[in-house]
Amino acid sequence: MNLDETFMPRGTRPAPSTDTETLVVGAIEERSYVAGPGTRSVVWVSGCHRRCPGCLKPDLFSFEAGRKISVDEVYQRLALLAGVDGVTFSGGEPFEQPLALARLAARLRAIGRNIVIYTGYRHREMVNNGHEGMRLLLAETDILIDGEYREDLENPGRWRGSANQGLVPLSTRGRDLLAAAAELPALQEIQVSSDGTHMRLTGCPDGGFFNRWLVELERRGLVVVPRAGGETK
Ligand code: SF4
Repeated sequence: MNLDETFMPRGTRPAPSTDTETLVVGAIEERSYVAGPGTRSVVWVSGCHRRCPGCLKPDLFSFEAGRKISVDEVYQRLALLAGVDGVTFSGGEPFEQPLALARLAARLRAIGRNIVIYTGYRHREMVNNGHEGMRLLLAETDILIDGEYREDLENPGRWRGSANQGLVPLSTRGRDLLAAAAELPALQEIQVSSDGTHMRLTGCPDGGFFNRWLVELERRGLVVVPRAGGETK
């Protein structure tokens, strides 16, 4: 397959989805310990026009990757989980599906979950020049991790992949969570989970990690086959 038939040209900014009911989701991790403060679920949405070199989720570059799931279905699945503090939206680019995510975030916050969002946009850019959907989703966000991933920059740890990315508190709760996290060492944390058939990597390791990991697994007799088009388990 010619990738450019399915991926948008790098840097081409798509029109944001106006869908309020349905998300295109690449994957869901019910419990993560490395994608923000505390124990969190992670929802990776599909589609990102940036195509940052070294991105850990190139299978989610395509806006066709993953599958359509209703906001209600995602909410029901996440709301049932006990002992989870918050939900992280990553991708892909969450702000390309802002209306459905804002609805999901509002419902999750109403049951006590805090919301962390990864985005390639800068907070200032969205506040000054963003569309209405961006403002709605920002209003339901506690912590924004903003800025494109840059593999040429140092990894500062604490949930970020490169030193240009910011940790922006957007609520009192977000400020409190970041203040508590600042008391702890800024580690590069990685979680590898498996459902017995598939492995999934969560977290923001340094740029060379993924290849080193694949080489090491291969050395031990394990061959990792990337899945095409995202997955939704
Ligand atoms: S903005 Fe994030 S998801 Fe998009 S290409 Fe860059 S690292 Fe990957």
